[in-house]
Amino acid sequence: MWLPFTQMSDYERDPLIIKSGEGVTVTDIYGNTYLDGYSSLWLNVHGHRKKELDEAIQVQLQSIAHSTLLGAANIPSILLAEKLVELAPENLSRVFYSDSGATAVEIAVKMAYQYWQNKGLKRKKRFVTVSNGYHGDTVGTMSVGSIELYHKVYTSLLFDALVIPFPAVYRHPSGDEDIVKEESLRTLRALFKERHEEIAGMVLEPMIQGAGGMNVMPPGYLKEVELLCKKFNILLIVDEVATGFGRTGKMFAVEHENIQPDLLTVAKGLTGGYLPVAATVATEEIYEAFYGDYEEMKTFFHGHSYTGNQLGCAVALANLEIFEKERLVAQATEKAEFLKELLVEVKQLPYVGDVRQCGLMCGIELVKNQLTKEPFPLTDRVAYHATLKMRELGLLTRPLGDVIVLMPPLATSKEQLAEMVAILMEGIQTVTRELVEL
Ligand SMILES: *Cc1c(COP(=O)(O)O)cnc(C)c1O
Repeated sequence: MWLPFTQMSDYERDPLIIKSGEGVTVTDIYGNTYLDGYSSLWLNVHGHRKKELDEAIQVQLQSIAHSTLLGAANIPSILLAEKLVELAPENLSRVFYSDSGATAVEIAVKMAYQYWQNKGLKRKKRFVTVSNGYHGDTVGTMSVGSIELYHKVYTSLLFDALVIPFPAVYRHPSGDEDIVKEESLRTLRALFKERHEEIAGMVLEPMIQGAGGMNVMPPGYLKEVELLCKKFNILLIVDEVATGFGRTGKMFAVEHENIQPDLLTVAKGLTGGYLPVAATVATEEIYEAFYGDYEEMKTFFHGHSYTGNQLGCAVALANLEIFEKERLVAQATEKAEFLKELLVEVKQLPYVGDVRQCGLMCGIELVKNQLTKEPFPLTDRVAYHATLKMRELGLLTRPLGDVIVLMPPLATSKEQLAEMVAILMEGIQTVTRELVEL
């Protein structure tokens, strides 16, 4: 095998093969059990082997596993679309399925582009993004993404997006939320003012950037972006692939600032972490711009073989039912508060520069010097080694550069959260101590 986002020489040194899972733990082939501190890469919601989810798939199997959505619908996909529209911001009413976060964003970008073509505003072709954004690994989503490490080698392959600075507070000289926010918005305002006639849409992760290093937006920033998009007739595409389904303490992160986007993408948590289903949710206005007689050539010619898969939609429906039954979003909010208290201690550790959190999405940034914020040398791979140590101690997670991610499943108990944080602290302390002694 060739593993994703993995240097295989690293993997060969420290291989891991998972055999089973139960609740918020997974077990490897040697019987070692680990807390799933990264929700199996930001997907898992209710833990593994959740009875209702297992059953939903078994029940669906008694009817059919898959039939195509190209020119045909199926029952679970209809029911799930209805549910998604009910949960999403009011102005969103049309669900287009796919099978991963990247495809959901790719679809949103193509829809936004073609929307203006269909409307006759043919000059509107460009996209605006924020620095450090991540939207997936396809050529289209890399183009609206902005993570140097992942995207640089492909530069000449990508279309050119317009990038404004993310309002990152920690490394800004002022360290002041309002100044950082205003600086970024000033750039955006100027860009929109000058070039709105050629801009189709703005793409960003709402409230918190995931893969870019768990960067939290200052309050009020997203609202201003929304107002500017409206003012300049630019479609707002929010990528809720990571933030959706309670992860930030709201069902969708846009609810923190009461945003009504034009397009919203979901994937990761949609099926509770069980099967690959994603969706791009659009406004009626966008849908209508594609609607007409075939000869008008307005059709959205895009689709994937497994779009609308019944097993996936059935388990997604069961997932959303549990959200209601267990009042999971309210629980996540409460657990996030608890976690926030635990993280106070983490913040005080030597070599911890910044602790960022939005709901149950947390990033702990390690630095060589807390005062100057000087990073560790890249070759130290300090966060990587810390996560290997955590694995030894019974907690799974993955770093983003020098940022350690903690993103527990929503179902994690307070006791388990405390256990995760204790291991995380021990991992950080052991590895940074070793580095300094060397
Ligand atoms: C993970 C992620 C994606 C990509 O999703 P895949 O299912 O891995 O393709 C897109 N956007 C955001 C914000 C993500 O976190």
